[in-house]
Amino acid sequence: MAFPSFPNPFRTEGLWLKGNLHIHTTNSDGALNPYQMAFLYRANGYNFIAITDHDKLTDVEGLAERFNDFLVLPGEEIGTGRSEVGTKYHLVAINLREEISPEGGPQGVIEEVLKQGGEVIVAHPYWSSLTVNDLLGLDGYLGLEIFNSTCLLSIGKGYSTVHWDDLMVRGRFTFGFAVDDAHWHFNPHRPVDTCYSWIMVKASEFTVESVMDGLKRGLFYSSNGPSILDVDVSDDSVYVRSSPARAITFVANSSIGERFTASDHPITEATYRVRGKETYLRIEVEDWRGRTAWTNPIIFQRDS
Ligand SMILES: [Zn+2]
Repeated sequence: MAFPSFPNPFRTEGLWLKGNLHIHTTNSDGALNPYQMAFLYRANGYNFIAITDHDKLTDVEGLAERFNDFLVLPGEEIGTGRSEVGTKYHLVAINLREEISPEGGPQGVIEEVLKQGGEVIVAHPYWSSLTVNDLLGLDGYLGLEIFNSTCLLSIGKGYSTVHWDDLMVRGRFTFGFAVDDAHWHFNPHRPVDTCYSWIMVKASEFTVESVMDGLKRGLFYSSNGPSILDVDVSDDSVYVRSSPARAITFVANSSIGERFTASDHPITEATYRVRGKETYLRIEVEDWRGRTAWTNPIIFQRDS
């Protein structure tokens, strides 16, 4: 018997809030100042952002007060340690009170962020050449960036979903985040990296605390295009309804899972029959432009 466990945002009361948790400003290598970034995201229908300059905690207090209908979380992207191949870990810390030094190494940084009441997301594993061993070697992070807009648009390394599955088949369940890593960098062959992807969080109130609570509980999904409209989980099936899609994929352990592909008309729903050997299952919805939405994993516990 399988006992699915899923923090289902579609079965939780509250407000849907759209946000981006990874943004650089003129306080590091971004081209816009914090006010311009907040203005841009708010004008494009986002409800909240986190400003995460490199190794610097940008002060957002005055900024948040300039908008009464937009939330700005304080954050920092910390480059620290050495991966198996010698690259740095980039850790996105959100909801910080004090600037974090990279000196503690990746695990020390995570512990310091948690002590402050913040959370850590491991940035762009594909871009950073992180291995599954690198990711298994750290504890206490909330999730991975499974999609990073600027990593896709600059060098084609935007998707880290294989890293995510590699962790989860080994029993390390974690949340997946789509982020922009916005710098307002672009050129004639590179589209601008702002307002390209997002997360949709179910929050009980329109406050930073409620957004953080929704993130910690996994009450969100990620997207760079499609909308997920409903997810229903029972002991023997998982149902999803979405905006028009050319494929809906249920991704699970190794060779389990199933993909539903549209023929001539888009599909807007699919149902997966639980086989019984899944330890996790997650859903991807892909639209006709090749853009994707991702749910967090449903975890299966078994009584045998
Ligand atoms: Zn960044």
